[in-house]
Amino acid sequence: MYNDRAQIDMYLDWDLLPARIILDEIGTVAWQSRLETDVLSLKDNIKNIDHNLTFKNIVRLDKQLSTVWSARELTLLNGEPSNLSPETGYWLVSINEQFANIIYDFKIVIDDTLGKIDKEIQNWVEALTHHGMYQDVVRKYRDLLQKWHNKELSFTDALILRTKIDPDIRLLESRAIENKLTHEDLRLIRPYSTQSQQYFNEIIGTFDNKPTSIERVRKLEANMFKQYWFSLTEALRLIGDALNSLGRSYKKILDDILLSNRLKILNDQTKPDFCIDSPLGSYIQVYYDGSFSTLNRLAHEVGHAIHQSIHRQSTIHYIPLTDIQSETWAMSFENFFLLWLGNTVPLMRPSIENFIKVQEIEMNYRHRMLHDFELTVCTSGLSNPRDITSLWVNINRKFYGMNVLFDKNFETAWMEIHHLVSAPFYLSTYAFAKEQANSTHFIDLINENIKKDENYDGF
Ligand SMILES: [Zn+2]
Repeated sequence: MYNDRAQIDMYLDWDLLPARIILDEIGTVAWQSRLETDVLSLKDNIKNIDHNLTFKNIVRLDKQLSTVWSARELTLLNGEPSNLSPETGYWLVSINEQFANIIYDFKIVIDDTLGKIDKEIQNWVEALTHHGMYQDVVRKYRDLLQKWHNKELSFTDALILRTKIDPDIRLLESRAIENKLTHEDLRLIRPYSTQSQQYFNEIIGTFDNKPTSIERVRKLEANMFKQYWFSLTEALRLIGDALNSLGRSYKKILDDILLSNRLKILNDQTKPDFCIDSPLGSYIQVYYDGSFSTLNRLAHEVGHAIHQSIHRQSTIHYIPLTDIQSETWAMSFENFFLLWLGNTVPLMRPSIENFIKVQEIEMNYRHRMLHDFELTVCTSGLSNPRDITSLWVNINRKFYGMNVLFDKNFETAWMEIHHLVSAPFYLSTYAFAKEQANSTHFIDLINENIKKDENYDGF
């Protein structure tokens, strides 16, 4: 689409030297015996009366182990073969199991005295308890995913099998608890068709009011903000300036990512965008082609890096942020950035307003529709690809209305929604997060987090 100006001024790549150094180090006897000593001493002192000290040691060890795991994950994501020897890999799994048992023992030790211990430890125990309750169902989904990855199952078979391994949709219940929503919140499909049909009819109306192919509708949408193009240098400067308007420390988070080469720019649209949180810092991978929507995608990932950095430095870093919380931060930063851009370059405001409209339908309403599809597939026990296709067409008809025409390819487009197998019940996360992001100002999110830290009474 942007071929005529598809040259951005640079491509960036990760520097994974810190991760490689860590992986080399854990292969050494000295490093391994030091960690073993720490784990042993923690185990021996688990009944120690000073729970705060034990907890502090658990958190410290957890950080060390997660540094190793994230170093491994990053090199694997970078397409490098694992440079761990089989012996080191085996040792790592075994030390991890020992550590998991220690956490479990500590939980038992403090369960009886929960009322008397620090609130922070209580929150941690709560998160752990929930995690333990759904471990069996999580394992079933993980096995399924593994089989699909190993090509032992086709996507369609994996999706159909999915409906069988969790007939009571307990995973959805787990996601609800994790995100502090009620089960009904997630089971309930919130209405989408009135808003989405109105939007698509408007787009078609501005054209010629005749039924139009879905492809053409997408082109019309993109045309609304096509006239702007940003080199990567310019995009990073704009995002940096927006962060600077919040405070120098926020711009510094982006500067640090650039200085230590933790941003990878892709020119291949088929790979996913993400921002990996690791004790080594946030690592961003994002597709960029200079278009308005990829500028926004870059801002989204930087938004993740901001909350990850704040979270890492906060006292509650050992309780992971939920999916909805983390997407809310990223989308709220997108909103903040677009508002800032519109105020800084008033000429761009009409394009920005159009873009916001498209995003709202895409992230909020389309994801409600996708959740509707996912939930219906799982609860109606469909076991025939033809039935799934007709469900897909019917639900999309509700979303797009009668004036958007589907072609043959579109009818089987559900086979490309990898989330249905790789991240079950995740699709609704975007809709929930988009709504929360729209009603929360980015600055309030930051302030809320800082307040939480101030209330903390410490170890
Ligand atoms: Zn995200």
